[in-house]
Amino acid sequence: MPRDFSPQHRPAPADRLAQATALLKQAAAWLKARAACWNSTTVITIASSAVVLLLLLIIGSRVPVAAYAPQTKHEVLEVSLPDSLDRHHHRPRSRSTTIRSGDSASTALRRLGFSSRDVLAMAAAAKAHYPLTRVHPGQRLVRSSDGATTTVTLDLDPLRFLQLVRKGDGGWHSTIQQRATTSRWVTASGTIHNNFFFDASRAGLDDRTIVNLAYIFGWDIDFARNLRDGDHFSVLLDERFDSSGKPIGTTILAAEFTNRGKTFRAIRFTNRHGETTYYAPDGTSMRKNFLKAPVKFTRISSRFSLARKHPILGYTRAHRGVDYAAPIGTPVHAVGAGTIVYLGRRGGYGRYIKIRHNDHHHATVYGHLHGYARGLHRGSRVKQGQIIGYVGMSGLATGPHLHFEFHVDGRAINPLHVKRTPSEPISRALRAKFNRRAKALLTALRQGTAPKVVAWQ
Ligand SMILES: [Zn+2]
Repeated sequence: MPRDFSPQHRPAPADRLAQATALLKQAAAWLKARAACWNSTTVITIASSAVVLLLLLIIGSRVPVAAYAPQTKHEVLEVSLPDSLDRHHHRPRSRSTTIRSGDSASTALRRLGFSSRDVLAMAAAAKAHYPLTRVHPGQRLVRSSDGATTTVTLDLDPLRFLQLVRKGDGGWHSTIQQRATTSRWVTASGTIHNNFFFDASRAGLDDRTIVNLAYIFGWDIDFARNLRDGDHFSVLLDERFDSSGKPIGTTILAAEFTNRGKTFRAIRFTNRHGETTYYAPDGTSMRKNFLKAPVKFTRISSRFSLARKHPILGYTRAHRGVDYAAPIGTPVHAVGAGTIVYLGRRGGYGRYIKIRHNDHHHATVYGHLHGYARGLHRGSRVKQGQIIGYVGMSGLATGPHLHFEFHVDGRAINPLHVKRTPSEPISRALRAKFNRRAKALLTALRQGTAPKVVAWQ
């Protein structure tokens, strides 16, 4: 998590031009003063050098101009490292080896020039943090010495390494160290014209981020059935890299989604229970007692493409439910926590599941299933989002789809009209902190078209 993102100023291109002009003016004045003592060849040489210098400075000032030009879909907010992490600083002498298949830690350490006695002492020192018997092929060991201090590091994962240090003739000491990472903030945005997955990919989002985005808004937006051409989204991402520049992961810091003219915003925040989750800017939780849809979007199933192949029925008194056209085998999720009160064949519904939710007023019904999730039966307790079955066309169905009903006190109602109760909001004690964070993140999200340099510590 970035703790500080105060802007650091890089000289703007205009400043650089001004600097160059000032330099040239000085040079001209200096030449004028000296011209009397020199012949014309010298003056021409110096003057042409000055022109070349000016050209170079102008070209130099053009390079950052390109970096500043807003890109249409994917904006980069650069992050600079503090000087202490600069990779060009002095490095001690080092040797390295990688654990090979069949290697023990001792074999690898001896390759780095350690004696059996050293290896035993190192294993004993490491034991509390990471027993050296756990090494596996691919892990890197680096030995470095700086004066009397010898250091050995062993990669544990992209973010952590084991460090063993010996000072002078003393013993070995081990610690687990966090690797220095860099991160940059990136914004991406897009408009839905084809299907969510396609348009989000085109906006530059990776598969996992797309799924996470749908998850964050899954209590407010029905991604499987209710997206509309022209719906719009934007995301602020924290992209993390290890010290070698390899990407480690991407986190959604803030996001905005406009669905059928209604805009939802989400801020990532760690609550008083230490859970990191998403909140609306007013501090209410994005999580609610019922998900908006029992089916997630799939790469193939888009509202637009499937609508052409299969009629999608909405809620009417005669139909009593909503149909989700989706390929056979698409997972069906419980929209809320509860108990299965019916699981089996039931007339035109085919394979059917009914869940009574924990408030005892709400129940949901899932019909035409291809099959049930393993281990479920009448009386099973299910969690929100748990897979309970798979889309099929059992019973009276003309094509593969899920028939979904929402009941309140025994009466079927339009699932779109169900009142959803949010989970615990931001606590009072954290409200001021949350407000500051929300403001900063939403500002960065909005300013996606004007990249700025942010400091990372
Ligand atoms: Zn139906």
